[in-house]
This record gives sequence, structure tokens and C-alpha cells, in this order.
Amino acid sequence: MLRKLLRHRSYIANNAYLPSPKRSMLSSPFSFFSATSSSSSFSSPHTHFVENVDDPTKSASSDSHSAPSSISIDRSSLYNPPDHSHTPNSDPDLVKHLKGIIKFRGGPISVGEYMSEVLTNPKAGYYINRDVFGAEGDFITSPEVSQMFGEMVGVWVMCLWEQMGQPERVNLIELGPGRGTLMADLLRGASKFKNFTKSLNVHLVECSPALQKLQHQKLKCVDEENEAQDTVKRTISSLAGTPVSWHTLLEEVPSGLPTIIIAHEFFDALPIHQFQRASRGWCEKMVDVAEDSSFRFVLSPQPTPATLYLLKRCKWATTEEISKLNQIEVCPKAMELTETIVNRISSDGGGALIIDYGLDGVISDSLQAIRKHQFVDILDNPGSADLSAYVDFASIRHSAEEASGEVSVHGPITQSQFLGNLGINFRVEALLQNCTEEQAESLRTGYWRLVGDGEAPFWEGSDDCIPIGMGTRYKAMAIVNKNQGAPVPFQ
Ligand code: SAH
Repeated sequence: MLRKLLRHRSYIANNAYLPSPKRSMLSSPFSFFSATSSSSSFSSPHTHFVENVDDPTKSASSDSHSAPSSISIDRSSLYNPPDHSHTPNSDPDLVKHLKGIIKFRGGPISVGEYMSEVLTNPKAGYYINRDVFGAEGDFITSPEVSQMFGEMVGVWVMCLWEQMGQPERVNLIELGPGRGTLMADLLRGASKFKNFTKSLNVHLVECSPALQKLQHQKLKCVDEENEAQDTVKRTISSLAGTPVSWHTLLEEVPSGLPTIIIAHEFFDALPIHQFQRASRGWCEKMVDVAEDSSFRFVLSPQPTPATLYLLKRCKWATTEEISKLNQIEVCPKAMELTETIVNRISSDGGGALIIDYGLDGVISDSLQAIRKHQFVDILDNPGSADLSAYVDFASIRHSAEEASGEVSVHGPITQSQFLGNLGINFRVEALLQNCTEEQAESLRTGYWRLVGDGEAPFWEGSDDCIPIGMGTRYKAMAIVNKNQGAPVPFQ
């Protein structure tokens, strides 16, 4: 009963601000919860309907004056589904699912919940069942642009491992490895450094079963035969002879070993919440279903749970920074993930490298949808386009510093500075010494895409979209255990 009351209360609260047509659409199903007064809130064609159930033991010719053997059911206060609820619906599964949540919750959902369902819903999420990368997919990432990206990240990881005192066993964790290209290039590039590769236990944190399979192939993994059933079956990457295992959460990776974590284009896929300045103060932007059954944005009438994170984020900013903004994005999951990373490297030693596009300050309005290399509407056919948002590096720094005094945070610096200082130009020169003309062309283009400012030739979409050069829009940040000192090239 308490649950019923709470649901009813939250329904009223959630819908109090809705324009009346919408409110009436939602009020029918949920008037069921107001047990005593429901019949007044919608009209039922079956008011006080009495159903007669014939007693099968009586013959049709039985005495019409005998007592009627009927059971009366008063259905007046039962929920009567609206007509349209049975009409065939051609919406894709994810759209049906989102509309279902909004309908049965009795009100709109946050942009954060929308983003989380769209990207990682276990049945129909964008990432779950397919390969979305590259020219044939929706977008391209740095490891897919050039092998040099994974190789340079490998140089960073090896330098940190040296600073850590070359431990004999290390957990090398990658969050969201996509096709597995970065890790494959890292392992291939490092395979000559046997002491290093021998120390590695590779852990891939990936929610998509389809991408886990691709990663298995890309790393040329071999599943060891396990005749003695009592031992754990190992999977080995034949690129460098390292054991590889998969997890869906960072928390599932065994702790207790020094740890190096890589997160390339992972934070931008974490669900963000959007807030808008309104006359009544900051309101959370929510996703609702409109009269014509399409999705639309509405504003929350009262504080939402994510408001706590907005307050936290604003505390880390100056009043001047906030006063200029009419919209603010916050990413509670990024704050929580940073805390998890920091706790891990505080207790086990090591460090983390985060590379992503973003800014070193409050993000205002960056959520974007990309399908087939073009920007599309965020609410259009959810699940068929990638959703991502700029990463708030300042928020990661504050979250890390609040979580533990045992880590130091470095950067962000631009991807161009990061790769340049690690020596990507020497690497490209070396590769150019020994390749075909076609390969040389691809190496040069790849190099400029990784470090360039992004002039139009590198953009594959229409001319009015942002060019794709990744050198300054992408930033690198490191969080390391203070025992390690400042990592290269952040000194
Ligand atoms: N790092 C890769 C892929 C980036 S796309 C590259 O640069 O090419 C984001 C990746 O993170 C995908 O592999 C996606 O399936 C994974 N991912 C997104 N959200 C996730 C989550 N909540 N948990 C685990 N993996 C996630």
C-alpha cells in the first residue's frame, strides 16, 4: 500500500506541470492507483458492469424461478486500458521500451536515464549488438585512424610501468575498448619489450557482447584448453602472450596488483544530466512522449536526484563561470567512476590515462547524436545513433582530489601535445622509411588527423559540420599514485 501511495504521489508530482492534453493521456492508466476515487478521473464504458457466469451444473432448461447461480463482479474501479493500447505498433524495440518506462513510471525520464538506455540497454542499446566504428559505421576514433595512436599510448604505459619500478605483475585495464584496436596496437608495439609484456594481465571492461567478440578476434586470442575442470580457463592474446579477461564493470576486475587504466573515448559515453536555467531556478531537462507519440524535452517541476550533483559541480566553479551559463551538463557517473579509479590506484599503486574530447571547465550544452558520420537529432530514432557529450575534465580533477590525497592529477593537455611529446613525429618518420606509397599517404593523413587542429579535409560529413581533426579538441589527463611522481609527458 505504501508503494501504491508513493507511486501515486510521484505520479502527481511528475505530471503537475504537464500541459493538459498530455496530462490527460497519462492520467488514465495511473488513476488506478487512487483506489477510491478512480472512477471520476476517467469514464469507463463498463461502469458498474456485472458479469454473469453460468453454472455448468444447471441445464439450459432448468427452472427459471430457481435462484440464479451468478457471481457478480463490480469492475467499476478497475483500470480500463485506453483503446490505442492494443493498436499494432511499429516502433523499434528500444523506442517501445523507452515509451514504456515513461508511461508506466507516470512521467518523463532524465536525459541521463535516456542516454543510458539508448547506449547500453542490454537488449537493444546502441553499442550492444554491433560494430559501430569506422567508415562503414557511425563514427571514427583515434585508434581506428592510425596504429600510431595505440603505439603512443603503449609508450606512455611502459614509461609509467618503469616509474612504478617495473613490477612483475600488473593489471592493465582498458575501459570501453571498442574494436580492441588500441590494445592490439599497444601489445604489438610493446611485444619486443618482454619484461614489460610478461608482467601484464590485460582486463577489458566492455558491456557489449558483440564488441567483446570483436576484441577477442582483434587481440588474436586463444582460449586455453582446460582439461582439469578445477582450474580457471585462461584466454591468451597471441600478440604478446598476455592473458586477457573481460568484465562489464571496473569493480569486477580483481584488485591487489599494481594497476594501469586506459580510458579512451569512454567518459564521453557516460550518461549526462542536463539542467536549464528557468524563472523558478535550475530545472532538469527530461525526455517525455508528446501527443503525436514522438519524444520531446520538458523541464522538471521540482528538484530531481541529479540536482545534488549539480550543486556539487557548481561548488567547484566560480560564481562568475556559472552566472554566464543558461545550461549546465553534469555527469554523476563520471564522478563515481573517477572515485572508483582513484580508490583502486590509491590502494594498488599505478595510474590512469583518460583521453577524450572535452573542456577543462563546466560544460554547458554538448550532448550530440551521430549517425553515419552526420549529426542528427538526439531524440530521433534512439538506438540508431551514437550519443556522446563533452567530458568535463575539471570535474574529474575535483572528484579525484576529493576521493583521495594519495593521487595526483595531471593535465589536461591537448592530444597534439600528448602525442607530440611522446614522440609521434619520430614514429611516423620511422614508419615512412619502410612502406609503399599508398601506406605513406595513409600514415601522413592519419598523423594529421591525430595531431592537427582539424581543417575541413579531415571531415567526412557535410561541410557545415565540425571538422574532424583531433589534435586540440581531444585532451589527455593522467591520475597517478603520488608514489609514482609526475608521469611523462605531463612533467
Ligand atoms: N575506446 C574505443 C571505443 C570508444 S566507444 C575507441 O577509442 O575506439 C565506447 C566504448 O565503451 C564501446 O566499446 C562501448 O561498448 C563501451 N561502453 C560504453 N558504455 C559502457 C559502459 N557503461 N560499460 C562498459 N562499456 C561501455
